[in-house]
Amino acid sequence: MSTDVHIELCALCSQKVEIKGFSLVGNSGVHHFCCGGCLSIFQLLYPDSPQNQQLKQNEENPK
Ligand SMILES: [Zn+2]
Repeated sequence: MSTDVHIELCALCSQKVEIKGFSLVGNSGVHHFCCGGCLSIFQLLYPDSPQNQQLKQNEENPK
């Protein structure tokens, strides 16, 4: 009987994430945010997130 309530904390302001949906997949895992504003600021502070990386132009020959 486990009643673990997993509460995510905003990766930017460390507040409780009460509204799910504001998340960003980063190199070290999934970051959760309390609002869209924190998500946008986080992307500005850490532009290394995969969403901002351009796809490599390695043209590999398919089988
Ligand atoms: Zn926040």
